[in-house]
Amino acid sequence: MNTCDSCGRYTRPNTDLCLLCLKEQNSKPYPKRYFEEKPINYVKGHIGEALIQNLFSSQGFMVLKYGIENNLTFLSEFLSEDDLTSAEITFIKNRPDLMVLNPVKRKLYFIEVKYTSKGVISLDTFSDEYPYNSCYMIVISKDVFRCVKVKDFKAFEKKEDILNDDYLLRDNEEFNLDKGLVSLFENNANGIYNAISKLN
Ligand SMILES: [Zn+2]
Repeated sequence: MNTCDSCGRYTRPNTDLCLLCLKEQNSKPYPKRYFEEKPINYVKGHIGEALIQNLFSSQGFMVLKYGIENNLTFLSEFLSEDDLTSAEITFIKNRPDLMVLNPVKRKLYFIEVKYTSKGVISLDTFSDEYPYNSCYMIVISKDVFRCVKVKDFKAFEKKEDILNDDYLLRDNEEFNLDKGLVSLFENNANGIYNAISKLN
């Protein structure tokens, strides 16, 4: 850790001033440091991952937090094309949030977790270079959880296609989750996210 040149408190690596001293100078928070711009978004993302992790692990799946931001919040700031190829950077940056094992079927899945109140995700979310096309995206919304494979999502004509009942997580045949438990998590998720919004 690095110390602030002005007040001596711990601050982000390679930063001369801490966030408070920057703000007192009316300077903008660290440029291109996404965490300081909207830390609550990181927290919301972690909550979504925790919900899905607990939903799956409670039913016997083995779940590994696999996403970069789970393990190394600021890693993306260290990914320089001077040191790594763009293909390597793409692989690292896009690591899905969760790696899930079904020990009965002996199958491995990647899961990317998104949250959005209306359940609709921009079709630009996954670039053409996104390397995990077999990954499942689970979308947490204010009413239900939906689930779609990234390669199917990329083939959508419009983002609202995900609202089709075919994509309800509770009905996903591959995961075959207990519908009652999914419903319980859906209700709890709405309460949790509502509570966070009030703190904003
Ligand atoms: Zn300071």
